[in-house]
Amino acid sequence: MKRKSLVLIYMVLTGLLCWPVGAFSQGYSTIKAQEDLYFVGDRTFSCFYITDAGVIVIDPLDSAHAAATMSAIRQLTDKPVRYVFYSHNHWDHISGGKIFKDQGAKFISHEEAKKEISPNPAVIMPDSTWRGNKALFKTGGKSLELYYFGRNHGNGMTVFRFPEYNAVFIIDLVVPDRVLYAYLPDASPKDWVEDLKKIQALPFNTVYMAHERAIGNRNDVTLVQNYFDALYAAVEKELSSNTPFFEIPQRVKLPQYQHLKNYDEWLHMNVWRILMEKSIGK
Ligand SMILES: [Zn+2]
Repeated sequence: MKRKSLVLIYMVLTGLLCWPVGAFSQGYSTIKAQEDLYFVGDRTFSCFYITDAGVIVIDPLDSAHAAATMSAIRQLTDKPVRYVFYSHNHWDHISGGKIFKDQGAKFISHEEAKKEISPNPAVIMPDSTWRGNKALFKTGGKSLELYYFGRNHGNGMTVFRFPEYNAVFIIDLVVPDRVLYAYLPDASPKDWVEDLKKIQALPFNTVYMAHERAIGNRNDVTLVQNYFDALYAAVEKELSSNTPFFEIPQRVKLPQYQHLKNYDEWLHMNVWRILMEKSIGK
């Protein structure tokens, strides 16, 4: 037997190597973020918050992820899932909610998100909506602040704040350690930049996120702001140098962000989105 295998067996036998508590066979893990506040996932995360009156889920994601979230909840409490909040209109966040609907959960989104959800049999439509820029949701001794800033990453985006923990859950507007998602379908980049400034004005110490890494801080928001600034500046530089329009995506390089995930694959697509905004106004 090779030395490496012997070392591994020794570590398992002596308990030096153990699997994360609450790991699922599909690769989902449960992350305890705060007392009663959890995230479930591997590289994409759902959220659940246990209250005295039942459980709040934020984003079912898809049916497999929703089932894993339900199993994680059942390991901690017998309380039913009472509310499912949707962060925004994108199917990859709001599919698979049936397992929660079947136990009587009420589905809630911002009214703009509901208007913009494209029909999909896997998506349960919200039972109720909230409107305006800010709302406070209270249940079972816990509260959840809801913020809406307008169209940015998608439509009807809610930013959640947990006042008990001075923490925010920012879905898709801040994805840590990665460049912006591909060609930013249906996003409004210039509004996104403005809304990140409004998010920075909220009180919080901790940032929870839905992709790549569940837990971070204000620096993760700042990095996205700085990346946008660098992206706009680089595109504007090429436009003012009269670089042929269709050569700009290959010409723009941001070496200071080369360490970010998908830099080689997606940077040129990020550039295309900014170019489109600059040429068609959207
Ligand atoms: Zn999205």
